[in-house]
Amino acid sequence: MTSEPHSPSSAFALELSDLPGGELLSRCIQCGICTATCPVSSVSDIYRPRKLIQKILIGKREEVLKSDIPWFCMTCRMCEDRCQEDVSPADIFQAVRHLAVQEGHVPEIFRSTARLVLDDGWILKDSYSDFIEDDREDLGLDTDLHWNSEFTERVRKRYLGGIL
Ligand code: SF4
Ligand code: SF4
Repeated sequence: MTSEPHSPSSAFALELSDLPGGELLSRCIQCGICTATCPVSSVSDIYRPRKLIQKILIGKREEVLKSDIPWFCMTCRMCEDRCQEDVSPADIFQAVRHLAVQEGHVPEIFRSTARLVLDDGWILKDSYSDFIEDDREDLGLDTDLHWNSEFTERVRKRYLGGIL
């Protein structure tokens, strides 16, 4: 059963409501079932999906976009299954992250992981040399996997030039 969207909402809430994933934001009644369900909340002292949605609803735009907290969501969607208002915190936080990226706010851990993938073309390249290369050699296979650095450089420039 769902209720009618509430009003008024903050300018930030309205902005997010226009983005893919944010459409049902105004249905949130702040019941807290998402937080009670969330496996990340159960191991974190600071990640609370209900509280994050509250900050959005009351318009804490800069605080939310510059925060690492929206990036904690691992998109398991357990909260979405339990929410009685059909709200998806995962989709809302994805919309928040899209907006944050557009404005240059990406947590360093995500930047460094993306850089690693783009540098290597494969996140496991370092372990490759120590582990897979030996096995491939034993099997008489080619040990040069021809990392396509030209391709990853093109990806970096085209999609991530302003971010990384
Ligand atoms: S997203 Fe759903 S479960 Fe979470 S506080 Fe809002 S209404 Fe409750
Ligand atoms: S989708 Fe995100 S907010 Fe929802 S339960 Fe999973 S980790 Fe928590």
